Amino acid sequence: MATITLEQEINPWEAQAARFDFAARKLNLDEGLWRVLRYPAREIIVHFPVAMDNGHIEVFTGYRVQHSQARGPGKGGIRYSPDVTLDEVRALASWMTWKCAVVNIPFGGAKGGVICDPKKMSQGELERMTRRYTAEIIEFLGPEKDVPAPDVNTNEQTMAWIMDTYSMHMRQTVTAVVTGKPLSIGGSRGRREATGRGIMVVCEEALKYLNIPRDGCRVIIQGFGNVGSNAARLMQDRGYKIVGIGEYDGGLFNPNGIDISSLEEHKLRNGTVLGFRNAEPMPTAELLTADCEILIPAATENVITSRNAERIQARIVCEGANGPTTAVADEILADKKVFIIPDILANAGGVTASYFEWVQDRQGYFWKESEVNERLDSILAESFDDVTRYAEAHAVNNRIAAYMLAIDRVAFTIKQRGIYA
Ligand code: GLU
Repeated sequence: MATITLEQEINPWEAQAARFDFAARKLNLDEGLWRVLRYPAREIIVHFPVAMDNGHIEVFTGYRVQHSQARGPGKGGIRYSPDVTLDEVRALASWMTWKCAVVNIPFGGAKGGVICDPKKMSQGELERMTRRYTAEIIEFLGPEKDVPAPDVNTNEQTMAWIMDTYSMHMRQTVTAVVTGKPLSIGGSRGRREATGRGIMVVCEEALKYLNIPRDGCRVIIQGFGNVGSNAARLMQDRGYKIVGIGEYDGGLFNPNGIDISSLEEHKLRNGTVLGFRNAEPMPTAELLTADCEILIPAATENVITSRNAERIQARIVCEGANGPTTAVADEILADKKVFIIPDILANAGGVTASYFEWVQDRQGYFWKESEVNERLDSILAESFDDVTRYAEAHAVNNRIAAYMLAIDRVAFTIKQRGIYA
């Protein structure tokens, strides 16, 4: 591997592009289509004012990147964080295109972000910022154009504000403009748990595929937000032993298993997992390299890098987050024969349930939770099968197989539609 700096290694856009180029070359992708798919179709940057509680005006920068709308409306979350960059949102938008194609749902890929520190903002400030950001990009949103959803530091309430702002401008209630909404205003049963549920489903499939018994299977999860906590609870209910939970402010370890419901209560009460009595404190960096069968990075990008990949002991890495493993770390893990369930498959449960929500909103007919879950389970299990079979047939790893499968599907659609002139 050519020498690259750590800065290049952890640039999410470079990480995405490296995998895309590799998969496109393997596919013998037409050069023109390569150029079409390598870069996002549209990038919107807005700088907009918000009145803060102290009476001052703050100016925020927001992005919405639409990578592709070839297979359907753009789809993808909106994140709020001080670390948001255009390159990150670009990468995340491309990943959404590949993710929707891997699970074969009729969406393109998009992503949004606002540079802000939501932990330091009041509810009122967050609401005003969300509404103004929505208004700034409103002509590019819509059930048939681009449909946002929650992501890092955004939630059902954020989606309710976006839906309301959009609806006020349209002079009618348009529930299908966002997904991940509260149940009472067009949300779907099962959406909140869906990403965690998808993780559980692909882990089950991986254990079957690798012939590893579930009994006594030890799991370490980095991140205890919506994705990590739901994966932990659902997997514990299925009989997995959750031995480690790591968060940005520290982690916990218990070789006999951590009781997830009590930990959820503890976090709700204290705002942190720290101080939980029935586990030992352990730094999150140490948890990542601790002994276990399944490691689930479920927070942000660049958690497994050239710095720690060599020391990973897990047999399976299931990527609950987007982009947790760098391209350099991929090679190290491949040499160690770690079985990776790549992000664009592993965390696709969220967007799959978003697809169900969008369908239900447009029909005005809502499904039972068991229907959502059954459909979700079968899509994820089939997609796991598609990816692993593709990997075997083309002698590539799971990540490259998932990219190849996705790129092939999107490229086929573009060819069929033709290039508008
Ligand atoms: N933000 C989630 C993701 O990265 C969900 C996207 C969606 O539901 O549109 O997959």
